[in-house]
Amino acid sequence: MADVANAPPAVALADATLPLLHEVFGYEAFRGPQRSIVEHVCAGGDALVLMPTGGGKSLCYQLPAIARHRAGRGVTLVVSPLIALMHDQVGALEELGVHAAFLNSTLESDEARQIERELLAGRLVLLYAAPERILTPRFLAMLDSLHERGLLSLVAIDEAHCVSQWGHDFREEYLGLSQLHERFADVPRIALTATADAHTRADIVQRLALAGARPFVSSFDRPNIRYTIVEKDDARAQLRRFMEDEHAGDAGIVYCQSRKKVEETAAWLCTLGIDALPYHAGLDASVRRQHQDRFLREDGIVMVATIAFGMGIDKPDVRFVAHLDLPKNIEGYYQETGRAGRDGAPADAWMTYGLADVVNQRRMIDDSVAGDDFKRIQRGKLDALLALAESHDCRRARLLAYFGEPYGGPDVVSDAQGPPLRAAPARGAASEAGVGVRCGNCDNCLNPPRTWDATEAARKALSCIYRFGQHSGIGFGVGHLIDVLRGKRSDKTAQHGHETLSTFGVGAELSEAQWRGVLRQLLALGHVRTEGEFNTLQLAASARAVLRGEVAIVLREARAPTPKRRRGYARARDAVLADRALSEAAEARFLALRQWRSAVAREHNLPAYVVFHDTTLLQMAQRAPATLDTLALVSGVGAKKLDAYGEAILRVLREATEPAG
Ligand code: ADP
Ligand code: ZN
Repeated sequence: MADVANAPPAVALADATLPLLHEVFGYEAFRGPQRSIVEHVCAGGDALVLMPTGGGKSLCYQLPAIARHRAGRGVTLVVSPLIALMHDQVGALEELGVHAAFLNSTLESDEARQIERELLAGRLVLLYAAPERILTPRFLAMLDSLHERGLLSLVAIDEAHCVSQWGHDFREEYLGLSQLHERFADVPRIALTATADAHTRADIVQRLALAGARPFVSSFDRPNIRYTIVEKDDARAQLRRFMEDEHAGDAGIVYCQSRKKVEETAAWLCTLGIDALPYHAGLDASVRRQHQDRFLREDGIVMVATIAFGMGIDKPDVRFVAHLDLPKNIEGYYQETGRAGRDGAPADAWMTYGLADVVNQRRMIDDSVAGDDFKRIQRGKLDALLALAESHDCRRARLLAYFGEPYGGPDVVSDAQGPPLRAAPARGAASEAGVGVRCGNCDNCLNPPRTWDATEAARKALSCIYRFGQHSGIGFGVGHLIDVLRGKRSDKTAQHGHETLSTFGVGAELSEAQWRGVLRQLLALGHVRTEGEFNTLQLAASARAVLRGEVAIVLREARAPTPKRRRGYARARDAVLADRALSEAAEARFLALRQWRSAVAREHNLPAYVVFHDTTLLQMAQRAPATLDTLALVSGVGAKKLDAYGEAILRVLREATEPAG
C-alpha cells in the first residue's frame, strides 16, 4: 500500500478541511487546536488529543474521516467503550449526511450483516465498535480485507484514558488495542481523551504504542462554567433555592455519594415538581438505560446520580451540575462538573460542602483496605480538593493550577480565539502561577468573600480538645466540643465534669455555625483528626504550631444567600444573543422551532440536540431568515440539514412571525 503520510494527495486533503467544516457541519470556524489536529490527521499523521469535555473532540476524527473517505481511502474505525451511546452518535452523523454505523450486541444479526456488507464495500465513512468486538477474529478478518484493498483509512480511539489503570474508567479490553497498530502499521491513528493528568497520558502513549504520535494539548479551562462552592447549612434547602432560582426547567445532574441518597434525593425533587430520575450502579441495567435515554432525549430532566453516571454523555445542554457530597478529589470534581455546558453557553458547577463531608471523606480513606502508599496519595488528593473548597480566591485559577496550567485571566484564554496550545501539564505540580488572577466567573471572583481572623478561636478549640484528653482520657465529638466552648450546659457536660474546665464558655461570643466553620477548617487543614465510630476529635501533630500562634487561620464569613440571579436558560439565551433579550416575536419563534424540533427528534428516534442545538435554534429565532441562503449562514446548519429541513424551518419561522388568523 502507498505511504499515505507522504503521498501528495494527502496534503491536498489537509487544504480542504475548512470547506468541509462549512459544508458538512455548518460551523463557521475551527475551535482552538481543531484545525491543526484535523490537518495533521488528514495528512496521515498519528495524534494524541487531550482536550477538555466540550472542546470538540469528535470533529477531530470525524472531519478527517470524511475527507479521507471522499479521497477514496475508505472507512474510519472508531473505538469506543460506550455501546449505549453509539446509536445516537451514529444518528448524529447520519443527520449530517455522513454514512456511519455501529456494530455491537444491541443489533439483530441481519442488521449486523447488512452493516458488514456496507463496510466491506467501502461505503461506510465511520464505523463505531467496542474494543472487545474489534478484537474478535471475525472482526479482524474484515479489517484485514479492507486493509488489503487500501480501504482502512484511520483508527480513532475515543476515551483513550480507558487504557490506564490509574483512573477509574479502566477497561481491560483497551489493552488489546495495540494489536491494531501491529497489524495495520501504516494506518494512521488518533487517540482522544478529556483526562488531563500526566500519568494517564504516559499510560496511553505506552500502552497504545503512540510514542510517535503528535500530542495536542488544549487548555483545560472551561470559561462558560461558573464555579460555586457554598457552606453546607441545610443542603436540601440550598439545592432547592439554587435550582428554583437559577435553573427552573433546565437539564442538570445532581451528584450524591451513596445509592440511598441518590434515591431519596430524586424522590424528594419529584415532590417539588421537578422531573428527577435516579441513576446508580445498583439499579437494573434496563432501568439505567431507560433513565439515561430520557435524560438525553427529553428537555429539562434532572439526573440524580452517583459517579457511575456520566462518562461519554455528550448531551450539550446540561445547564448545571450540583454536588450534594464532596467528590473524592479534584480530578473527580473537574470531570463531573465538566459535563455541564458542552455547548459553550453559560452553565453552573455548584457544590455544598460542610464539616461532615470532610470527616466522611477522610474516614473512607482511613477505613479502606488499600495499602499505605495508596492511602497517602488519596489523602494528598483530598487535601487539594479541601483547599479548593476553603479557598477565598479564584476557584478557576486554583483548579487549573492543580493540573499544572497557569491561568492568565479571562482575556488570555478566550472563547473566541480558542485555548492556546501548550506543553503537557504536570499533574499535582500545584504551581501558584495564575493564583491571584480573577476569572470573573466563579463565586469568589463575583462576590469576594469577607474573611475573619479565626486564629484565636482555633487555639481555643484546640486547647479544649487537649483538655478533654487530659481530663477525661478520651476524645469527644464536634457537638460536645462546641457546647463546652460556648458554655452550654448539658447532661454530658455535667456527667464528664467539663463545666469546670478552663475552656468552658471561652467561646460564647461565636455562634454554633461559626464554631463549625472553625472546626471544618481545622479538619480540612489536617490540624485535627477524627477517630472511631463516634468521630471523636484528636489533635494532629501540626496542631502544636497553631496552638503556639504560629499559623494564622482565616475563615470566610458565612454569607447571606445570594440574591436571585437570572435563570440558567435565560442566562444561556442572553449569552447567545450578545446580551440582548429576545424580543417577544423572537421568543415565539424560538418556542415554535423547539416544538418542531421535538417532533422531528421523536420521528427519527434521536435526542433533540442531534437535530439542532438550542444555540442554533436561538440564532434562527433571532435572525428570522426568510430564504435558504440566509438560513445556511446560521452556525450548525450544514448542507444536508439545510436540504432536509430548510423549507420546514422557514415555514415555522413564517408562521410564528405572522399574526395568527
Ligand atoms: P467533546 O467530545 O470534546 O466533549 P464534542 O465533540 O461533543 O466535545 O463537541 C462539543 C460540542 O461543540 C458539540 O455539540 C459540537 O457540535 C460543538 N462543536 C465542536 N466543534 C465546533 C466548532 N468548530 N464550531 C462550533 N461548534 C462546535
Ligand atoms: Zn474566579
